[in-house]
Amino acid sequence: MSTHVMNTYGRLPFALSHGRGCRVWDTEGKAYLDGLAGIAVNTLGHAHPKLVPALQEQVATLMHVSNYYQAPLQEQLAERLCALSGLDKVFFCNSGLEANEAALKLARKFGHGKGIARPEVIVYDKAFHGRSIATLSATGNPKVQAGFEPLVEGFVRLPINDLEAVRAAVASNPNIVAIFLETIQGEGGINPTRIEVLQGLRRICDEHDLLLMLDEVQCGIGRTGKWFAHQWAGIQPDVMPLAKGLGSGLPIGAVVTGPRASEIFQPGNHGTTFGGNPLAMRAGIETLRIMEEDGLLAHAAAMGERIRAGLAAGLDGLTGVREIRGHGLMIGVELDRPCGVLLTRAADAGLLISVTADSVVRLLPPLVISAAEVDELLSILLPLMRDFLAAPAA
Ligand SMILES: *Cc1c(COP(=O)(O)O)cnc(C)c1O
Repeated sequence: MSTHVMNTYGRLPFALSHGRGCRVWDTEGKAYLDGLAGIAVNTLGHAHPKLVPALQEQVATLMHVSNYYQAPLQEQLAERLCALSGLDKVFFCNSGLEANEAALKLARKFGHGKGIARPEVIVYDKAFHGRSIATLSATGNPKVQAGFEPLVEGFVRLPINDLEAVRAAVASNPNIVAIFLETIQGEGGINPTRIEVLQGLRRICDEHDLLLMLDEVQCGIGRTGKWFAHQWAGIQPDVMPLAKGLGSGLPIGAVVTGPRASEIFQPGNHGTTFGGNPLAMRAGIETLRIMEEDGLLAHAAAMGERIRAGLAAGLDGLTGVREIRGHGLMIGVELDRPCGVLLTRAADAGLLISVTADSVVRLLPPLVISAAEVDELLSILLPLMRDFLAAPAA
């Protein structure tokens, strides 16, 4: 294959050429069922019949100007995101790490506004926030950080789902200005923050005037069956980075803020050339509109239930299955051994999935997956997992 693309990914030995719904085809004509959605990106699957004409029209109308001018499509998408989240301002960028960088800048400036010269942010074990220098420093995975030291300072790392540890850290460290976490950890192995922990974090942030910053880059945009995963806990964050599924395949990122964080950035504090361009905005507007029109939140919840029930039944009684976790169409099955080989075996069998945190089979299908496609996914995946678990542990 190409020798001129940098060697940054362990790629499977085939190239995908086109897709339709939850099906994609490689250049040899082999079909695959998409259980990954480009890592939670292709919310509406591939070549969605309502999205394609809207984006074609937008490409032929206006793709990019600059943020020198008024931006009506930014206004439109921001208004929608605020209506869905109950928050009140949005900054647009192009990716998850950019949304998280903006969140971290907000936290620091919030601290400086309170007279804290060296603000610190609570972050978590197994967290993943991106691969820029600041976001890899916030990430809780030594493999992501190795070789890129010195890390950015100003982070305090804690175990997830431990409110006592947060209380102790906040009580002893007056420099803490924010708590930054994924509502459901994605790359770390599909690890949900418990509902009562989310509620407890909200209370701590209110009592101590801290920013609750929920990275919903992977778990947001309907994937769990609500627009945003924290809505299951009935709380609101102060800062919410979004990206992946928001554009259904177009690169886009957004930071949505509540009253405590909405006025922190003033002209000159932050910016981006591509962020908020009309093409990405149109993708976001149409994705949210189509999701609502087609009832995809309830559908994601129902299809997620169907997958989890099928996994539970199909893996019942097998030794080697530690836990089936997740919410809606964000599902992880943790095994008792590294299982990266299942990615290749699934692809050979015509199914795209991922394996994360070494031993967690991760499913993130498009939200448009049908019941028949769920059953097909299970009929491919379950025998592979059973065979894998029946073989002697490596
Ligand atoms: C993917 C991801 C990111 C990084 O997003 P990029 O668009 O790859 O920069 C950040 N946070 C979470 C939770 C993610 O899943």
